[in-house]
This record gives sequence, structure tokens and C-alpha cells, in this order.
Amino acid sequence: MRLLQVCSEIFPILKTGGLADVTGALPDAFKKIGIDTRVVLPGFRAITQALTKSEVVAEIPSRFGAPPCRLLKGQLKGLNVVAYVIDCPYFYDRNGGPYADEHQRPWPDNHMRFALLGWVAARLTQTLDPRWRPDVVHAHDWHAGLTAAYLHAFEHWTGIPRIPCVFTIHNLAYQGNFAAHCFAEVDLPLYMWGVNGVEFHGQLSFMKAGLFYADQLTTVSPTYAQEIQGAEQGVGFDGLLRGRRDQLTGILNGVDPLVWNPATDAHLAAQYDHQHLAGKMGCKAALQAQLQLAPKPDAPLFCVVSRLTHQKGLHLVLEALPQLIQAGAQFALLGGGEHGMEVAFRQLAQAHPQSVAVRIGYDEPFAHQLIAGSDMICVPSLYEPCGLTQMYGLQYGTVPLVRKVGGLADTVVHCDLEGLVHKTATGFVFDHFSSHDLLAVARQAMALYKHADEWQALQQRGMKQSFDWQRAAKAYQQVYQRATKVTP
Ligand code: ADP
Repeated sequence: MRLLQVCSEIFPILKTGGLADVTGALPDAFKKIGIDTRVVLPGFRAITQALTKSEVVAEIPSRFGAPPCRLLKGQLKGLNVVAYVIDCPYFYDRNGGPYADEHQRPWPDNHMRFALLGWVAARLTQTLDPRWRPDVVHAHDWHAGLTAAYLHAFEHWTGIPRIPCVFTIHNLAYQGNFAAHCFAEVDLPLYMWGVNGVEFHGQLSFMKAGLFYADQLTTVSPTYAQEIQGAEQGVGFDGLLRGRRDQLTGILNGVDPLVWNPATDAHLAAQYDHQHLAGKMGCKAALQAQLQLAPKPDAPLFCVVSRLTHQKGLHLVLEALPQLIQAGAQFALLGGGEHGMEVAFRQLAQAHPQSVAVRIGYDEPFAHQLIAGSDMICVPSLYEPCGLTQMYGLQYGTVPLVRKVGGLADTVVHCDLEGLVHKTATGFVFDHFSSHDLLAVARQAMALYKHADEWQALQQRGMKQSFDWQRAAKAYQQVYQRATKVTP
């Protein structure tokens, strides 16, 4: 099977969130089960700089207001996958992020920048690269959503049957919605403007294009697949998703053991595994020293590694922290996002320098050090499609405190009496989105932390969990097989 993966970010080259971890890990996992995978990406600066052995595959005529550009093919440093890169500096070579400028303002021409991605992906199923054509296209998140629409449009225009498309929702709340007039700028047939098409409440929606036109849909955990069919988490798409529930599959993300493994992690002060946990104490001491926290080996150290957005529920942490500090806990955060939240965490750190440390920004090595050196990791999300940091926590013996939602509910087993007696517990799970409930489980965690043997057993159970990408790859393979059966 030949697979074309369409995405806008890929680890380790360009990452703003979990999407990149997934698109970076899947090609390798697919290779092991015989799926010949290629990736198509916009030529953001980081991507073109990482491209080696590149050759020009095709000249792309002027489209969507961009001048003529080229499609390159090559290898991306650190990844073992053939990559097609849309070399269109006019759209992609900018200071700032892939979706927004330095001030977090979305690029005003995003609809055209990501229309080009979908259009090129769909053209790759035809003759854009005369030497390779996929059997299936897999588009990720709204940035790649128009791929599915262009596949239908080309079929409509040429009469040639389209290649099937699978679309994965990584976060339904980011929808790529644009003003109605943008529809005229993305070269789709007029019949697609409507409720049975790419229109969503009078706007052009890239997410809707993916949800409506893809042959199969997936999302990144079984619980989130259920939740998005309801009004609360469906963000306006619940009706559409209920209608497509037979084509919607929840596939839990994995953890790449070459990147996230405390036994081999070169970022850490000391390595460790579930049988030799001493190294974790070394990591904690190093972290406390680095952050100038009080050097107390017995102080329970909570951490957060996260985007600072309302979704992540970190205002609950802010509310709970004064009482936790009072009870002897320490806290360290790595993240960036909403200005007000950055300021609030910074103020807390200034008020309690011995107990709270805050680092604003994006820092991959420090994320590893923070997770390894902490005792617990908090993920109190309002909603969470999958969530990766709780899984990293489990692998690193850093007990997760999570809200019972989405992928968090699928990956952490609550440490109640039953979980302790039956030896199934791996962390602490609370239900109601309130600082009161977060505080309650945090207190339970601190109480158990004092019992070193039981705490260690909890850590070891988490560390022995397997979040294998091969399992996910096989589940995607089944979805591809279903997709290839339904189209003519
Ligand atoms: P989301 O995709 O919603 O941001 P996930 O938990 O699925 O949340 O994935 C977040 C990914 O980004 C994880 O790999 C996490 O380690 C990483 N991450 C988040 N914030 C930072 C940061 N400030 N520095 C380094 N890595 C970060």
C-alpha cells in the first residue's frame, strides 16, 4: 500500500503541539508493516532548511494568489521518510509561526496557504509526480482538510475516480473557519458551497471539508471519538459526526520510545528504568538545583508541560496551588500561550521562589528534564483529544493527575481503593472541572507519596504501560483498508 500523509508540522522539525509527534512517528511505524509512506508539507522555513537530497518534482503554476512555485522531493533530517515540500516562499517563508505571526495573529491569507497544501496533495494522486501515486491519502487536522474536497472536485471535473481519503481530527476546536468570500479564492466547484459541503454557518470551514468529504474519519482516542458526537464537545459538528459514526474510529496515539524513554534519554542528568529508580531522584535534585527550588528530596514536586490555553484547564492549577504549596508541595511549569496566564504563573513563582518555578517558552530538552525530575504531572484539561504529556509522565514514573476526559480517561486509571487493591491504578483522575476536585486528588496523591513502597508500585505500573505506535499503525491500516473498499 502506498500512503500519502498530508500535514503542516512534523517532529522533530516543526512542532507546535501533539500533531507533530503523531505525524513524525507514524511513517516509521507504517514502514514496519509494509506501508510505503510519503509526506507532503508546506515549505515553512524550518522544513525547507531540513530538506536534503532534494530534487524538483514539478513546477506548480500560479494558484491562490501565489506566484508559480515548485514541488520538491527529498529527505527530512532526522526522519526516515520521503517528503514532498511545497517550495512557495511567498506563502510559507515568514518570520513567526506556521499559522500565526509573532504576535499570535493568524496569517490573513491562511485559507490560501492551506488551500495550496490540500490542492498539491490532491494533485499528487494524479500525475504531479509521474513516478509515484498513493493508494490512500491521510490528511491531518484542518490545515489539510481541503485535500478531501479537492479529491472530490477533481473527480467531478475529470470523471476519473478519486483515491480514498482518511481525515484525522487532532483537535476539533481548531476548525480553520474563514469568511464566506474566501470560498471564491480556493477554486472549489460552486456546488460545494452549502450545508452539504464546505460551508459551516456561513463560513468556509476547512475542518468541515475534511469531515464531510473524507471517506473515513479518525480521531486520537476512543473516548474523544464518542465525546465529539455530543453537543458539549462537538463544537457544532456533533450532528455531522453522529451521521458519520460508522466511519469514525478513535485510535489512541503512541509514545516514541526512541524519544521518550528514561533509560536512554540523553537530556537527563541520570537515566533510569522501572527496576532502577534511583536515577529519577538524581533528575529531581538536578531539576530543583536548575530551577533554584528548595533542594528537598521529599517535597512532592508537581509539574506541567503545556500550551497555556483555556482548553488545558491550568487556571484550576493556579487556584489550587496556594493550598498545595502550603501543604509542602513544589511546582514547576514549562509552557507558553495566553498572556494573562503567563503573567499569573510568573507572579506565583515570584511570590514563592523556593516552591514554584515557571519557564515560559518552548524547550524540548527541558520538557524531558522537567517530566523526569518531577513526581507528578498535572493535565486538568477541559477537553483533551488524546494528550501526550500524561503518557510521557507514565513512562517516566511521574504520576499523572488528570481530568476524566478524552484520551486522559483512556490512559490513566484512578488510584482509588479498588485501583490500589487490584493493582490497576496508574494515576489520579478527577471528574468535575473544578479546582476543588483537582485539589482533592492532589491531596490524595500527596498522601500516597508519603508511603514510599506504594508510591513506587504506582510509578512502576505506569512505567510498564506500553503505548506502542505499532498498535496504532495497525489500527490505521485497517481504516485505510476500509477506505479503499468504499470508493469505486
Ligand atoms: P496539544 O497537542 O493539545 O498541545 P498534547 O499533550 O497532545 O497537547 O501534545 C503536546 C506536545 O507538545 C507534547 O509533546 C508536549 O511535550 C509538547 N509541549 C507542549 N508545550 C511545550 C513546551 N513549552 N516546550 C516543549 N514541549 C512542549
